[in-house]
Amino acid sequence: MNARPFAHGPGTLAPPLLALALAGTLVAWALPAHLPGWRTIGIVSAWAGTGLLVASLMLMVREPRLARWLGGLEAMYRWHHRCGVGGYVLLLLHPLALAQDAWQEQPARAWQMLSPWAQEWPVRLGWVALLALMFGLAVTFAPRVGYRRWRGVHVLLGPAVLLALVHVLVLLGHEWLPWAAIAAAVAGFGWRVLVSDFGLRALPYRITAVGHPAAAMVETTLQPLAGAMNVTPGQFVLARFLDSARYHACGEYHPFTVSGIGADGSLRLTIKALGQCSSQIQSIAPDSLVRLQGPFGSFLDGPAARPRLWVAGGIGITPFIAALRQGPCAQPTTLVYLFRRAADAAFADELRGMAAADPALKLVAEATGDRPPDLEALLSPLAGVAGREVHVCGPPALVHALLPLLHRQGVRDEAIHHESFDFR
Ligand SMILES: Cc1cc2nc3c(=O)[nH]c(=O)nc-3n(C[C@H](O)[C@H](O)[C@H](O)COP(=O)(O)OP(=O)(O)OC[C@H]3O[C@@H](n4cnc5c(N)ncnc54)[C@H](O)[C@@H]3O)c2cc1C
Repeated sequence: MNARPFAHGPGTLAPPLLALALAGTLVAWALPAHLPGWRTIGIVSAWAGTGLLVASLMLMVREPRLARWLGGLEAMYRWHHRCGVGGYVLLLLHPLALAQDAWQEQPARAWQMLSPWAQEWPVRLGWVALLALMFGLAVTFAPRVGYRRWRGVHVLLGPAVLLALVHVLVLLGHEWLPWAAIAAAVAGFGWRVLVSDFGLRALPYRITAVGHPAAAMVETTLQPLAGAMNVTPGQFVLARFLDSARYHACGEYHPFTVSGIGADGSLRLTIKALGQCSSQIQSIAPDSLVRLQGPFGSFLDGPAARPRLWVAGGIGITPFIAALRQGPCAQPTTLVYLFRRAADAAFADELRGMAAADPALKLVAEATGDRPPDLEALLSPLAGVAGREVHVCGPPALVHALLPLLHRQGVRDEAIHHESFDFR
C-alpha cells in the first residue's frame, strides 16, 4: 500500500518520534561516562539499535486507533522497515566497535571479541540474534520471494529481537530499563500475532449476497452479526473468510478496500483473483462467515471543496465506487477508469448510470489492452488538472507512470494521493 494522505496526516511524525524517544531513552540511561571512544560507540550503538528494534516491533501493531494516531498503517509500515534496518546496522556496529576497542589494547583480544566460540553463552545469544536478524532482513530485500515465504521468515525477526534483549538482560543483570524494553517488545509482537494475525478482536459478519462484477472478481455483501464498523469510503478492512460446508478458506487476514457501505452497517468487498487466497475467495458462497478488523486508511480524505480527478486501474476502482454509491458528487469529479478488456471492467454499467444521472460526475472509461496506457493522451483533454485534488488507485506501475505526468501538469505534491494495494 502506498497512500499519500498518510504522508500529510497529523500523525506522520509520530512513528519517527516514537523511535527516537525509545532509542534516546535507552542511550541516555546507558550512556557511559569516562570510557574510551570505541567502547562508548559500542555501548551507544547497542542501545540505540535496541530502541529502534523495539520501536520496529511496536510499529507492526495493526490497531485502528493506534494507526490513526501514528499517521496510518502505511506510515507505520514505512517506519517499521526503517527502524528494523537502522537497528540492525547499529547492532552490527556494536561488536565491531567493541572489537576495535579491544584491538587498541591487544589485537588477539579483538579476535576473541569477534569469535562466538571464545565467548560465554550470553554473548553467543547476541550473535544468534544478530544472525537471525540478518537472515530475516535479507529476505525482506528479496522482492522475488513469494509473499507467504517472505512472511514466514519475516515473522522470525520478532523472536530475534527478543533474543537480543535477553542477551542484554543476562549481561546487565536485572536492571529495570531492559525489562521495560522487553515488555514493550513482547507487547508489540504479542499484539500483532494474537490480535492482528489471529484476529482476537475481529468482528463477525455474514455474507448475504455474492456477485461476479467482472472476470476473476467476486463482490460479497457482508452483514454485521455483532457491532458494525464505522467505515468511510476509501478505507480498507482486514478480512478473513471462514470455512463453510461449501467453501474451504485460506484462513488468513487480507486487506480489502470497501466497495460499498450500507446505511444498515453492511459492507461490500470486491476481490480480484490475484493470488492463492484471493483466487480461493472467488468460490465463496452466501451464508459463509467473515471476520473483519479495521477500518484503516484515509485514502479519499482531502479538502472537500476542490474539484477532483480520480484515476482507477483495474481493481483500484473499489474506493471510488464506494464513494459514488454514497450519492451524487458534492464537487466536480472526473473518474478515469482504466482496464485491460471490457470483461475486466467491474461496475462499468453502474458507473455509466451514475455519470448519466449526476452532472458533477464525468466518466472516462478506457480498455487499454495489454500495453501501458497513453496517460498523456488521456489527461490532456481534461480541463484544470492543476487545480484538482488527485486520487490514484491501481497497480504500482500505473501510479509510478502517472505521478511525473501530474507534476508536469502543475498538480502540487500535497494534492496527489495514491494507493497501490500492496504492503510488505
Ligand atoms: C490497502 C489495500 C487495499 C486493498 N484492496 C483490495 C480490494 O479492494 N480488492 C482486491 O481485490 N484487492 C485488494 N488489495 C490487494 C489484496 O489484499 C491482495 O490481492 C491479496 O491480499 C492477495 O493475496 P493472495 O493470497 O491472493 O495473493 P498472493 O499471491 O499471496 O499475494 C500477491 C500479493 O498480494 C499482497 N498480499 C498478499 N497477502 C497479503 C496480506 N495478508 N496483506 C497484505 N498484502 C498481501 C502481497 O503484495 C503479495 O505480493 C488491497 C491491498 C491493500 C494493501
